[in-house]
Amino acid sequence: MSEQKIKVVHEDEETMYQKREPIHPRSIKGRFRTFKSSMLLMAFAVFYFLPWVRWDHGSSVTQAVLYDLPNRRFYIFDLIVHPQDIYWLAGALIIFAWLLFFATSVVGRAFCGYFCFQTLWTDAFMFIERWIQGDRPAQIKLDKMPWNAQKITRKGLTWLAWLVFAWWTGFTFTAYWVDAPTLFVEFFQGTAPQPAYFTIGLLTVITFVVAGFVREQVCFYMCPYARFQAVMFDKETLIPTYDAPRGEGEQGRTHLARGLKTQDERKAAGHGDCIDCGLCVQVCPTGIDIRNGLQIGCINCGLCIDACDEIMDKQGWQHGLIRYASENEIETGQKPHILKPKTIGYGLAILVATGLLTWSIFNQAKMDFSVAQVRSPLAVLMADGRVQNSYEVKINNKLTRPLRLDMSLRDLPKGELELAGSTKDIVVPTDGYINMLVRVRQPMTTRGAQQSFEFVLTDKDGELPPTTMSSTFNMPR
Ligand code: SF4
Ligand code: SF4
Repeated sequence: MSEQKIKVVHEDEETMYQKREPIHPRSIKGRFRTFKSSMLLMAFAVFYFLPWVRWDHGSSVTQAVLYDLPNRRFYIFDLIVHPQDIYWLAGALIIFAWLLFFATSVVGRAFCGYFCFQTLWTDAFMFIERWIQGDRPAQIKLDKMPWNAQKITRKGLTWLAWLVFAWWTGFTFTAYWVDAPTLFVEFFQGTAPQPAYFTIGLLTVITFVVAGFVREQVCFYMCPYARFQAVMFDKETLIPTYDAPRGEGEQGRTHLARGLKTQDERKAAGHGDCIDCGLCVQVCPTGIDIRNGLQIGCINCGLCIDACDEIMDKQGWQHGLIRYASENEIETGQKPHILKPKTIGYGLAILVATGLLTWSIFNQAKMDFSVAQVRSPLAVLMADGRVQNSYEVKINNKLTRPLRLDMSLRDLPKGELELAGSTKDIVVPTDGYINMLVRVRQPMTTRGAQQSFEFVLTDKDGELPPTTMSSTFNMPR
C-alpha cells in the first residue's frame, strides 16, 4: 500500500528539467547559409592560422600574435602592448559592447547567428556530423537504430573527429600564450609546461561536450545575452519573422492539396501561403518553429528564411514569407526605419571611441620613464661639503631597437649627475626596461630647502623627442 502511494507521488511529480530531444538540422542552401559559412571559414582561418605566423618584433619573440604573460607583453604584429597600455583593452571592450548594442538594435541577435563562438563551433561540429552520418533523415535513422556495427562505427568516427577538432581548438588557444611550434613539439615529447597540458585538456573537453552535445542548450539556458537582448529590441528591429497574415490567411495554414495548389485557390478558400511543409523547423539549429513568433531560442541565423525561400521558389511564389522584418513592418506594411535616435547615438559613440582608440595606439609613447626619490636617507651631507640625493629611475623601451640615451638635469645649474655603476651610456634593450640608481650632488645652501628640477632623457639616435620627468632636490634639515 505504502509502496503504491510512493509510486503515485513520483508519477505526479513535475520535473524541473525538460529532457533534451536531439536536434538534427537539415542542410540548406541559400544566401544566409552562404553568409554564415563564409563567416565561419573566415573566423576559423584567422583563429587557427594566426599562432603560426612569424613576425620580426626586433627581439627574440618571433610570433606575430603572442600574449606573453611572464614578460607582461602582448604582441600583435607591430603593436606591442605593455601593462601601462591596458586601458586599450578596456576601450576595445567598451567599443565591442556598444557594437553589440548597435547591431542588436538594428538586426536583433545577428551576433548570435553568425559570429558567436558557440554558434561557430556547433556549426562546425554539425558539418562533421553530417559529413560522416549523412543529412537529417540518415541521422534520425541512425539514432533510432540499436547499437550495431554500423551505428558504433558512424558514431565512433564522429566522436573521434570531434575530439581531434576539439583538441586542435584547445591547442590553438594555448598557442597564443606560448611559442606555437615549440609547444607543438613539446606537447608530444611530454615536456610542455603543466599549465599548457591543463589548458589544452580543459578546452578540449569543453569544446567536445558543448559543441558536440550541449549545443542549443547554451543559448536556451546558459547565455546571459539571450536573456537581456529583448531590452535592446524595439518595433523597428529587424528579426527573422514569419509573415503571419500572409502565411495563415483567414483560415490558417494548410498543406498543398487538390484545389489548394495555387495562391488564388488558397486565397479563395481563406488559406495563406504557408503550406505547412515544416522545412523551416527542420533546418533550425535550435529546433524552434519561427511561426510561433519571437522566441528566446532564435539566434537570428536566417536559415529558416533560406528554407522558406526554397519552398516559395518551388511554388513559383514570391520570397519573404519568412524574412528579416520589423514588428512595425508586419503590422503596418511600412519599410523599417533603421536610422533611429538609438542607433544614431550608438553609431556616433562607436565612431568617436574607435577614433580615440586608434589615435591612442598610433601615438603610443615609445619610451616612458619614472623617477622615485630614495627616502632613507633623503639627503646626505658629504665630506666635501656638497649634498647628495639619490633617485631610482625606471626606463621602458617600447621600440623594436635598443635605445641609447643621454641623461641630463634641467633647472639645477650647479647639480652634478652620477649614474650608479661604471656605466656612462644608458642602453635599454629592445622592448625591455632597466632600473638604475642615479645620484645628484650640488653645494649646500639653506638647511631644509627644496628645489624642483627635471631629469631629461635624450635619444642619441634622434628618433624620439627629449622626455622629461620632474623631481625635487632636498637639503638636509
Ligand atoms: S518553410 Fe515556409 S511554407 Fe514551409 S512550413 Fe515553414 S513557413 Fe510554411
Ligand atoms: S528560427 Fe530561423 S533564424 Fe531563428 S534560429 Fe531557427 S533557423 Fe535561425
